[in-house]
Amino acid sequence: MIFEEIINFIRSAFNTPQGLIQLHTPYFAGNERKYVLDTLDSTFVSSVGAYVNRFEEMMVEITGAKFAVATVNGTTALHLALILADVNQGDEVITQSLTFVATANAISFAGGIPVFVDVDKDTMGLSPSALRNFLASHTEVNAEGICINKVSGRKIAACIPMHTFGFPLRIDEIKEICDAYNIKLIEDAAESLGSYYKGKHTGSFGLLGTFSFNGNKIVTCGAGGAIVTNDEKIAKRAKHLSTTAKVPHQWEFMHDEVGYNYRLPNITAALACAQLERLDSFVENKRELAATYKSYFDKVGVPFITEIEGAKANFWLNALLMPNLEERNTFLKMANDNQVMCRPIWRLMNKLPMYQHCQTDSLENAGWLEERVVNIPSSVRF
Ligand SMILES: *Cc1c(COP(=O)(O)O)cnc(C)c1O
Repeated sequence: MIFEEIINFIRSAFNTPQGLIQLHTPYFAGNERKYVLDTLDSTFVSSVGAYVNRFEEMMVEITGAKFAVATVNGTTALHLALILADVNQGDEVITQSLTFVATANAISFAGGIPVFVDVDKDTMGLSPSALRNFLASHTEVNAEGICINKVSGRKIAACIPMHTFGFPLRIDEIKEICDAYNIKLIEDAAESLGSYYKGKHTGSFGLLGTFSFNGNKIVTCGAGGAIVTNDEKIAKRAKHLSTTAKVPHQWEFMHDEVGYNYRLPNITAALACAQLERLDSFVENKRELAATYKSYFDKVGVPFITEIEGAKANFWLNALLMPNLEERNTFLKMANDNQVMCRPIWRLMNKLPMYQHCQTDSLENAGWLEERVVNIPSSVRF
């Protein structure tokens, strides 16, 4: 039977004939210990220190964006990005229904209301044609240049596409559409560190891009995040807002707006720096695993998701398409019973209790993918 064969193939790819194979495990074999111990020796474990600055410099170098600001996690990076993009109470923000819940939650934290638009089947990311159709049929740009949703009467302030599992979506087209409607573009690049589209790093196309360094991501520091932007004023305000909006002074406690305690600690940044040093080798390693998977799944005729033309994916999580929901569930049960950790893609955001009243388009592709996509073990192999 094909599912049994697939499970055996995954076991052989990881050279693990028995026992647990995790979906994704971190790997610490570089300077992680050294850098973390440095922070202990220096006593600079908290929000000030050399590693947190270095982490930001490394993110600038990797993404090609002009500025990077460290945050405690990817969700807070998104929350700050929405504030920096001027999303206010009652504004609408377009995003995918097929995403991790943090994308929608961050919109809520900023007082925004998510509007869910469909994805493309091949990228699993926000669809330019669906976005274009939605905007053309449901919105108008008023005399002040503000995009208004004709159904709700609200302003559409921003759009957050998300590069699912590290596969770049058609971000250049999304950017063009957002520009035409005066909608600020924020990229949720939490899963796509090390992924490029047309030679440019994901997260660097929009006004703002956000990243995550959670335990399950391609590189991790336990918990961490970053905002990138090319706008110096926005970058300065990002740092200010993430450090309780304190006005620098030798001793005075002066805070000039409601700020946040969102800055990444130096001890955590130390771990992040050591991991970022390994990013290129992790991506290379994952692309090798993906190539191994692809040649097998092509041979047995199971659709294996790969990058689109012009994209270079980090292959953070590899993904298969099952024929239907029933077979998806049969496969997941068999794989997990066999200790080969596989999981489904997320439930659509508009099916969760807190987002079920949000406006959507047809979500045809999102619904189709929701029933079929499964992730298979994708850790780096050394
Ligand atoms: C992981 C993730 C986040 C949130 O990152 P945290 O660091 O866990 O807060 C946001 N969006 C997506 C798509 C993610 O995968």
